[in-house]
Amino acid sequence: MRFISRGIKEGCLPLLERAKATPRALAPAELAALLAIDDDEELAALFAAAYDVKVRKVGRSVSFRGLAEIGNVCAKDCLYCGIRKSNAHVGRYQMPADEIVACAEFAAREDYGSLVIQSGEIESESHTRFIEDVLRRIRPLNLGVTLSLGEQEESVFQRWREAGASRYLLRIETSNRALYSRIHPQGHSWERRRNCLAALRRCGYQVGTGVMSGLPGQSFPDLANDIAFFGEIDADMIGMGPFIPHAETPLNDAPPSETLLLKPGADAKAVAAARLRLGLKMIAVARLYLHDVNIAAATALQALADDGREQGLRAGANVIMPNITDTRYRRSYQLYDGKPCLDENATACRGCLQLRIASIGETIAFGRRGDSPHWHARTGTPLEQGAKEPGPGRG
Ligand code: SAH
Ligand code: SF4
Repeated sequence: MRFISRGIKEGCLPLLERAKATPRALAPAELAALLAIDDDEELAALFAAAYDVKVRKVGRSVSFRGLAEIGNVCAKDCLYCGIRKSNAHVGRYQMPADEIVACAEFAAREDYGSLVIQSGEIESESHTRFIEDVLRRIRPLNLGVTLSLGEQEESVFQRWREAGASRYLLRIETSNRALYSRIHPQGHSWERRRNCLAALRRCGYQVGTGVMSGLPGQSFPDLANDIAFFGEIDADMIGMGPFIPHAETPLNDAPPSETLLLKPGADAKAVAAARLRLGLKMIAVARLYLHDVNIAAATALQALADDGREQGLRAGANVIMPNITDTRYRRSYQLYDGKPCLDENATACRGCLQLRIASIGETIAFGRRGDSPHWHARTGTPLEQGAKEPGPGRG
């Protein structure tokens, strides 16, 4: 694959100019060429071009969503995930409704503007009703509410939408069906996931999807096709992150992906740096291809470098999801090894993030829902007017 990187050396700048000027201007082979960049100077040019598009489309401003990891009970057995059904070492929990409502109240009080409710996948009438009740209770807080609760029937998506959820995040994980079947056990269906994304769209959600980068067996053309897939389904929001092995999962010992461009004998530190670098390139190329979507700087970036999420913002992301889950649950919600802030409470996370974001010259859009500009454009919904005044003591 490295020949691609050398091959585009002279061609990189015109590609970036074309991508900056027009969304969806690049063909998959050109996206792959950008993703394969390994030269530091070219990488800096890639990030600068993506940042330029971000500033034009969404400004130098970061939207916050408080992330509540409401439960780790999961019916699925994804081969990469630390809370997969077969991992018997995980103590299972489900947050009671009152605690989820308290998380939402915290997000509202802190002026985050939005809340993400995430958990393992459960399909049952009682769970559907439980989520519905929670959504009705938090509706008066007027937060943007994103659900990330896995695959469900369209009627369930519809009920949750009517109860007050406005966004749904369901990563396709990879657009390559053969790779999807290699990283999932039998019975997990790529087609169903794809159909769920279509159903979410029909239900009127702002639809978010994404992939993991650096999966074992993944290639640059796969990642380029992932980004083209985001365009094909006309996604409003992108939540991508680097794949990080979890010791208690079957994929822990799989050979690293060629997309990490590892030098022979690379140590753990070099591998982490390569995972981060690829995750940042994915953000930048997605921004250059899609222009006006919301893109999250995933927590997995922070697991690889202390300032991983700020690097994500510099590469074109505009959303951060501070974890507001009570610390007593965080150890039981480890999708990958090295999850950050396990012992840090939500207030500490907020203060620390504010400093980090100021340090890169961006501001936090406190009190705003931060809906996807792409969704505004495609639905004709007017943009949210002026930010709410920050509450006392907020900067
Ligand atoms: N159960 C829901 C939401 C929780 S999992 C769902 O699967 O949609 C949220 C995301 O965590 C997944 O989409 C997956 O991309 C990511 N994830 C799981 N294991 C991971 C790992 N080892 N490294 C990086 N991301 C991982
Ligand atoms: Fe469950 Fe989501 Fe983990 Fe898959 S990725 S095992 S669906 S929590």
